[in-house]
Amino acid sequence: MIGPHKTPAEVQAMRDGGKILATILRDLREQVKPGVTEKELDDWVGAEIARHGAIATYKTDEVKFPGNICISVNEQIVHSIPTDYALQEGDLVSFDLVIEYNGMKTDSAFSMVVGTPTSAQKHLLQATERSLYAGIDAIKGPTRVGDIGAAIEAVLRGAKLGIIRELVGHGVGHEMHQEPYDIANYGRKGTGLLLGVGETIAIEPMATLGKEKIVTEKDGWTISTKDGSLAAHFEHTILITEDGVEILTML
Ligand code: MG
Repeated sequence: MIGPHKTPAEVQAMRDGGKILATILRDLREQVKPGVTEKELDDWVGAEIARHGAIATYKTDEVKFPGNICISVNEQIVHSIPTDYALQEGDLVSFDLVIEYNGMKTDSAFSMVVGTPTSAQKHLLQATERSLYAGIDAIKGPTRVGDIGAAIEAVLRGAKLGIIRELVGHGVGHEMHQEPYDIANYGRKGTGLLLGVGETIAIEPMATLGKEKIVTEKDGWTISTKDGSLAAHFEHTILITEDGVEILTML
């Protein structure tokens, strides 16, 4: 095992926290409509986290992010700060959230379109989400990170999407980012670190309708596509078990 050992109680805390996180993200979908501002959604998420007895990790000293949740719109890929921007019909929005519950962290993200998606948006969303599950399905007990990356890459390449290579999945649990630090969304089967039973990791493919180059915006947080093309992001925290996986951030 590469990441730190977790006691059964710590794994259970991640299971419980993961359910809370999944519940918040599910209910967040209902809050997303034309005219709602990112800050209003951020406040709603903050209140939900508190109501469930959890902690918004981004706001803690570990991260010092100015928000409860990252809300990235259209060409923004990840890490965007909630602003007074009011969402519009047709915006593609990515939400990324980490919470702490009973001392343990879980991490999950999803993308959606405000209103009715275009066929191109639908393709981007569906293929990126499918690549996440392909990565998860590649885990059959102890697994090399290259097996996960290869499975994700195969789906994204097949869908002719740009693969964001600089941003990767990671270990999660006691900390938001911990060993193993590099679960890439591309790779070669049979290569890389061997992940063991009990490992808890975040798998998070990000893809674009255009090229793969990224830029960090002036705010120092937001990462966007360089060519301005739309981006999507799907993420789950999973536990590697004897014969497969348990998706912790799923209801
Ligand atoms: Mg995340």
